[in-house]
Amino acid sequence: MAFDFTEKEKGIQPRTIWCLGRNYAKHAEELGNEVEAKPLVFQKGLNALTPIRSTQPLFPGHGAVHYETEIVALMDRNDQGSFITGIGLGLDLTLRDLQTELKAAGKPWTLAKSFDGAAIVSRFISMNEITSLNQIRFTMTINQEVRQRGDSSQMILPLEKIPVYLEEFTDLQPGDIIFTGTPEGVGVLNSGDEVSLDLAGHHMGTVRFK
Ligand code: ZN
Repeated sequence: MAFDFTEKEKGIQPRTIWCLGRNYAKHAEELGNEVEAKPLVFQKGLNALTPIRSTQPLFPGHGAVHYETEIVALMDRNDQGSFITGIGLGLDLTLRDLQTELKAAGKPWTLAKSFDGAAIVSRFISMNEITSLNQIRFTMTINQEVRQRGDSSQMILPLEKIPVYLEEFTDLQPGDIIFTGTPEGVGVLNSGDEVSLDLAGHHMGTVRFK
């Protein structure tokens, strides 16, 4: 599928979408989940990946669609190993009613997290524009009202350590994308909502859900 990487990243094709859950204590609490030292890890399929577009359909027919605003890391690799080459902002869209139902039944969440359009990703800004991986602030507004504010300093597993942890299980490759978890403030998206994303002083995009 076509994907709007920036000029710099144009050679990199998206490959695997890793996602962390419960990586911010206050968000884990708001959903009634335990806070653990190691975050939860799951994947979304590439079918879910979509660049920020001016309009995006909401996913109808399966209950509430929740937004989770997350720092997204784009990976690359050289002879020394894998490294973060770009930082973006993403919306991990979740069919919350379905997820709650599946969770209660002890079943996998795949359909609640990996439906088409469930992984919205901005462009990536290069690492020389990031002062410190441990101090990246971001904001998400709906209809100009702030709904989520986060800072990578609040992560339970720090951003720089996330690839190290995943590499206990996989050799990360160019084009691997990591959603790094959401801070508190998740909620329902409604038709007509205009979502605006900002990270580290950069406007990362605006999307209207229809
Ligand atoms: Zn998430």
